Amino acid sequence: MLLPEHEFSKPASLRDSLTELAEAGGEVKLLAGGTDVVFNMRGRLFRPDVLLSIRDLPELQEVEQLADGAVSLGAGCRLSELERHALLKGYPGLIAGLRAVASRHVRNMATLGGNLNLDTRCWYANQTAEWRAAKGPCLKTGMEVCHAIKSADICVALNASDIAPALLALDASVVLASLNGERTVKLADYYTDDGVQHTVRRPDEIMTRVLLPKNSDRMAYIKETARKGNDFAYATIAASADGHGNQCSRVRIVLGSLTTRPALLLKTAAVLVEHGLDDTTIKAAVGEVRDELGALTNLYTPAAYKGRIARALVREALQQLREQ
Ligand SMILES: Cc1cc2nc3c(=O)[nH]c(=O)nc-3n(C[C@H](O)[C@H](O)[C@H](O)COP(=O)(O)OP(=O)(O)OC[C@H]3O[C@@H](n4cnc5c(N)ncnc54)[C@H](O)[C@@H]3O)c2cc1C
Repeated sequence: MLLPEHEFSKPASLRDSLTELAEAGGEVKLLAGGTDVVFNMRGRLFRPDVLLSIRDLPELQEVEQLADGAVSLGAGCRLSELERHALLKGYPGLIAGLRAVASRHVRNMATLGGNLNLDTRCWYANQTAEWRAAKGPCLKTGMEVCHAIKSADICVALNASDIAPALLALDASVVLASLNGERTVKLADYYTDDGVQHTVRRPDEIMTRVLLPKNSDRMAYIKETARKGNDFAYATIAASADGHGNQCSRVRIVLGSLTTRPALLLKTAAVLVEHGLDDTTIKAAVGEVRDELGALTNLYTPAAYKGRIARALVREALQQLREQ
C-alpha cells in the first residue's frame, strides 16, 4: 500500500531538525527507524504534512558512561546495536526487553526513541482505512467516540512498548531537546492516560537520550505473546529489587501492554518492601495487583484475562527475583 502524499525532510543536525520542528506550518511526524510510522501511515492512521527523518542524526547515536556510573543511551541507537553493547552488561532485564521486540530484522532498523514513543495501539484503530471506514472515525482519528470501549471518553489504546517497562523498572529518565534547551523527565512521569497524546513530549521536542542510573539490582523480565517472535505482547512485566534472596528494601514492578501507560505498581511493591520476598508476602502482593491496575479495558483480550495474566506475571517475576 502506498504512503499518503507528504513532504520528506532529513536535516543533517539536531539543531536543524529542532528548527524545522519549531517553524513547521503543518503536522510534522518524526521518523526514526520507521518500523511503526510507515505501517501507520500506510493504514492512514495519520497523514502528516512532513516526515522529518531523525534516523541518522549523529547527536542521537552515542552510548556513554557518565561520571556517576549512569549510562546515557542515544535515542537513535538501533535496538540490535544496544542488545550487544558492553555498557549494558549490568542491565540484563533491559537486554531481555530489547530482545523481546519483534524480530532481528525489525530490531536492525528500530530505534530506542522510536520504541519509547511508539504510538498506542488498539484493535479498532490499527486496521486499514477501508476496515475502519465501516464504522467511521474514533477518538484517535478525529471523532468524539471510542469504538473499542463504548463508554470511554478518552482514547484507551494500549502502550505496547516492550522496552518501556524495563526502563521504568530501572528508574530511567529521558532527555527532551527543543530550541529552548533540554529538559530531563523521569520515564515514570513521561506517559499519560490519553492514548492520543500519550506522552508529555511537546510537538517541538525530540527525545535525544535515555539516562540509566547505575544498577546493582537484580531484575526479571517476562513477555507473554500469542506467538514466539515478531508479535506484540499480551502483557509484559519488568521487576527489579535490591538485596538477595528474600531480603529487599527497594522493589519496582512495571506491567506493560495492559494499559494506556505502562503501570508502575507502587502499592504492590510496598507490601514486599515491608516483609520481603517470602511466599506469604508474594501472595499478599499478588492480591494487590488487580486493584492497583484500576479499570482494565478489553482491548485485544478480555479485561478478566488481563487481570489474571497480570497476577500470574507478578507472581512469576517475584519468584524469579528471589532466586537471583
Ligand atoms: C512486524 C512488527 C512487529 C513489532 N513487534 C513489536 C514488539 O514486539 N514490541 C514492540 O515494542 N514493538 C514492536 N513493533 C513496533 C516497532 O517496530 C518498535 O516499537 C520499534 O522500536 C519502533 O522504533 P522505530 O525507530 O522504528 O520507530 P518509528 O516508527 O520511527 O517511530 C515510532 C514513533 O516514535 C516517534 N519517535 C521516534 N523517534 C523519536 C524521538 N527520538 N523523539 C520523539 N519521538 C520519536 C515517531 O514520531 C513515532 O511516533 C513491531 C513492528 C513491526 C513492524
